[in-house]
Amino acid sequence: MPVPVATRAVPFFDYQAFYTRQAEMFDRAMKGVLTRGAFILQQEVRDFEAALADYLGVRHAIGVANCTDALIIGLRVAGIGPGDEVIFPSHTFVASPSSIHWVGARPIPVDMGEDGLIDPSAIEAAITPKTKAVMPVSLNGRTCKFDAIQEVCDRHGLVIVEDSAQALGSRFQGKAAGTFGAIGTFSFYPAKILGCFGDGGAIVTDDDDLAHQARLYRDHGRDEATGQVVQWGLNSRLDNLQAAVLLAQFEHYPETIARRREIASMYHEGLGGLPQLKLPPAPGADPDHFDTYQNYELCADRRTELASHLREQGIGTLIQWGGKACHQHEALGLPSSPLPRTEEFFQRCLMLPVNLFVTNDDVAYVIDHIRGFYDN
Ligand SMILES: *Cc1c(COP(=O)(O)O)cnc(C)c1O
Repeated sequence: MPVPVATRAVPFFDYQAFYTRQAEMFDRAMKGVLTRGAFILQQEVRDFEAALADYLGVRHAIGVANCTDALIIGLRVAGIGPGDEVIFPSHTFVASPSSIHWVGARPIPVDMGEDGLIDPSAIEAAITPKTKAVMPVSLNGRTCKFDAIQEVCDRHGLVIVEDSAQALGSRFQGKAAGTFGAIGTFSFYPAKILGCFGDGGAIVTDDDDLAHQARLYRDHGRDEATGQVVQWGLNSRLDNLQAAVLLAQFEHYPETIARRREIASMYHEGLGGLPQLKLPPAPGADPDHFDTYQNYELCADRRTELASHLREQGIGTLIQWGGKACHQHEALGLPSSPLPRTEEFFQRCLMLPVNLFVTNDDVAYVIDHIRGFYDN
């Protein structure tokens, strides 16, 4: 039998193409900033914040250095600190619990529901007299079921600080991820749907006072109007150059989301019916959800073998976060009681390429090779 040769390269994410595909647009945006020497908290940051707030239908957006900082600042301004417990889903990136750790509070991991997102009944079961807040995480461009979460939090007087790093533009019952809690947070890491050329993040809120405090925290505790230091702060500003890069792309954001939904539909059609796979919901399958497919993550039998088979065909996949839930990072010393749904998920999960560099032919190629793997 001849050795199979990959006839195509479908990388999981193409960091070079991110710039080169739209080099002219980015050059124009960056040159404007560079020639003006407008580096820190300049017009582009203000314009991007205004565009983001407007898009989400929220009063305030505050650009910060990254989403981890957005979570830390968000928890602080929401009044979370030493002695408090914050409930979060163990199915998330380590940045969610580390932000809780760095405000001096205790991160309490809970299990996910059928939908892969925090289980509202698990929140309820983990509440103690010390619980102050919940951090729901809207993963893969799907917003958590906030009706049930809100109900539990209202009943127990808990604050919601959302990790919506992966969910810009995603909606539940028509309302945008990041706008359900007291605070919402976004990441502009390059591989996020809206990415910049380095790190970037944002805090969003409807609360004027929380927004004011967040602006103080990100800039050394200095009051914007007077320049006076009015409290202890940090340096966590969104670079003006990154804001320009984000603004340029943000104009085309609805098309970006539409293309991702189109790719998700193609995967859904092409892979549907394979008993070895559990696919994410197709776009529009549930009228409550508008999904943006930050990632296309499925669960697969023989997941690791499938990934190596695809790699031989030039197809990049990703086992998210090294295949571990947060409570499985022993070094962090999080409560380690078993979270069965989350643990099973991490044995089977795999992400397929879904981004603007993937062509329809690429998607067909990926589908063929997954079907081929299970046919043999
Ligand atoms: C990317 C990500 C973060 C962290 O964002 P940074 O901007 O890299 O700090 C936090 N939570 C989740 C779920 C993420 O995917």
